[in-house]
Amino acid sequence: MSGRNKGAKLRYDRQSDTYYLHVTVKQERDDPQAEAEGRTVLGVDRNVDGYLAVTSSGVFIGNADLFNHKRHEYERRRGKLQQKGTRSAHLTIQSIGDRFANWSEDYLHRVSKEVVLEAVTNRCDTIVLEDLKGIRERIADLSKFQQWAFGELAQQITYKAKAEGITVEMVNPAYMSRQCSHTECGFTHTQNRDGDEFVCQKCGKELHSDYNAARNIAARYLQNRRNSGAGGATNHLALKSGTVTGSGDSTPTASRG
Ligand SMILES: [Zn+2]
Repeated sequence: MSGRNKGAKLRYDRQSDTYYLHVTVKQERDDPQAEAEGRTVLGVDRNVDGYLAVTSSGVFIGNADLFNHKRHEYERRRGKLQQKGTRSAHLTIQSIGDRFANWSEDYLHRVSKEVVLEAVTNRCDTIVLEDLKGIRERIADLSKFQQWAFGELAQQITYKAKAEGITVEMVNPAYMSRQCSHTECGFTHTQNRDGDEFVCQKCGKELHSDYNAARNIAARYLQNRRNSGAGGATNHLALKSGTVTGSGDSTPTASRG
């Protein structure tokens, strides 16, 4: 257990189907962050199922399934109370509504805090998210609650990042989930992705799909900067590999917080 994985943090174990409050699972740690022209960038992929946020440094944060489950529970209770229609039931609806709103916001605060902490730990000066406009189609079918959560998480990350002197940038997410994030490859194909699993049909690279997307998000931002000529002729994408500096954590695989 590395230093930053200490603290009040809980997990969801899929095998035993045990719900904990908060997920942080570190996976493969090559290319933990991208560096170019003095920028150290952390890509963050947001989701409404599985993990709420996945970083390009391989950290999986927040249990979106728990989040959705809590929402359904709340709606079910509210529905029952509405059928009762009594004054007391009405007061209870207000009270559980307030409680649920507080809980969801607090949960997103924990997730956004963890994301920014990951950026700080990796000494990133930039966090990159997907532009909400670009994923409007992807989130169009989601509930209002999930759409709210998606935007709220970005706002909270931006707010907390600012307090740490970290900039938040947005990139167009087109084809991000189907593109191989392996530095030498970049092959884009619909069959690269099957749910949580990403297997590049060209180079064979296997990754968690969200982790792959997070790496692409960071890489695309740096690509955009290079294309716009920012930083002059020395622009390059240098991905760190293997070890992580700063935290002294050099474990490349599966260190579970
Ligand atoms: Zn590939």
